[in-house]
Amino acid sequence: MRILLVEDDPDLSRQLKLTLGDAGYAVDHAPDGEEAQFLGETEPYDAVILDLGLPKVDGVSVLERWRRGNVATPVLILTARGAWSDKVAGFDAGADDYLAKPFHTEELLARLRALLRRSAGHAAPSLSCGALRLDPRAARASVNGEPLRLTSLEYRLLHYMMMHQGRVIGRTELVEHLYDQDFDRDSNTIEVFIGRLRKKLGADRIETVRGLGYRLAPLPGEEAA
Ligand code: CA
Repeated sequence: MRILLVEDDPDLSRQLKLTLGDAGYAVDHAPDGEEAQFLGETEPYDAVILDLGLPKVDGVSVLERWRRGNVATPVLILTARGAWSDKVAGFDAGADDYLAKPFHTEELLARLRALLRRSAGHAAPSLSCGALRLDPRAARASVNGEPLRLTSLEYRLLHYMMMHQGRVIGRTELVEHLYDQDFDRDSNTIEVFIGRLRKKLGADRIETVRGLGYRLAPLPGEEAA
């Protein structure tokens, strides 16, 4: 899953980028409203964390323009404590959730998880696909209760595929949701990661749909479990 972090405070940005990375997300950072505007319109993020007080263009204007341009990405706004009118303006501009500064990073992560699962159509806090389970709270996955040892990129790939299980996902889409913009992206590496995941999950769980991409689905007979 890939997140856009829009925040102009350098210390807070650095800290949040690290925290989000540790939690298993690919993160792009925009330090002002102009860059945020551009990135939000051109890159397919899974969620955006948007500070409202920004240089160049303020957060509410950025959000209004995204929504007018049909950018449907879920957005969590960061507001100043007590500024109730900011919250109202943010929600009316198309925000999905808010958090008042200063906040605990645990709360930000919990709100982000809720936002991501809701926008992908899941209600339960952990994801399952037959005997395969993934818990975003701990950034861990297991098969039949046996923990899987995954690298951070393998985890990220599995997280995205479990969020969108049952659907064929193209390689380009996987690349766009796995790596941040600074990463040297190569869609051939996806094949390598899929191969590694298959070794860990069992070969049949990820199906290759020739010319289209990959599909993660329960094994035959698992659906009822
Ligand atoms: Ca600010």
